[in-house]
Amino acid sequence: MVMLAHDRLAERLERWANIDTMTGALVRRAFMERAQSRLERTGSGAGPASLAIIDIDHFKSINDRHGHAAGDQVLAHVGRLIGTNLQQDDLFGRIGGEEFGILLTDTGKQEALARIESLRRLIVGNKCRALSAEEGRIDVSCTFSAGVDEYRCGETLSNLMARADSALYAAKSRGRDCVVDAQMQSGC
Ligand code: GH3
Ligand code: MG
Ligand code: MG
Repeated sequence: MVMLAHDRLAERLERWANIDTMTGALVRRAFMERAQSRLERTGSGAGPASLAIIDIDHFKSINDRHGHAAGDQVLAHVGRLIGTNLQQDDLFGRIGGEEFGILLTDTGKQEALARIESLRRLIVGNKCRALSAEEGRIDVSCTFSAGVDEYRCGETLSNLMARADSALYAAKSRGRDCVVDAQMQSGC
């Protein structure tokens, strides 16, 4: 019994340290550590990997319009939808306030672009039913923009992130609600 209780406590502590309770995603530190070691394995011949950086569009105006608490519920909704539609070996992390990273394991770039595009459609097609202090029950729609690139053997995680991030920046400047390939910097 004592051993079982100890294991459960250790499990809870590990979860508490690594998982963002609002979205269910890995916290930034855990995401970066796990992504780095996943890429090291990829570098030693474990198949391709791709990274997507996703940022919710105009999230500040969701907060401004419906309140911060409703914004939190939208974040939780997006986190749940993404988290439950990934493959088992993918890594999903909250890397900033309304910004997420997804490391798609065993996934080359074309497939990664298609998978992130289907997540984008999923978010567009599923409004968040939120409770706002001032408005009561409301349905909030949101979109995201994303940048995607494939890991190149031997490079660092931060190099890969920089390319995905600049594709995300391109997605924002093309009007948002789209997924951009870091090489093509098009696709909206
Ligand atoms: P863009 O389309 O350019 O990304 O616009 P944006 O409004 O999403 O981006 P901006 O960086 O201007 O604002 C992000 C907002 O996200 C501001 C910040 O208050 C909000 N935010 C960050 N973390 C949280 C959170 O945990 N909960 C809530 N409700 N809001 C958050
Ligand atoms: Mg944003
Ligand atoms: Mg942001």
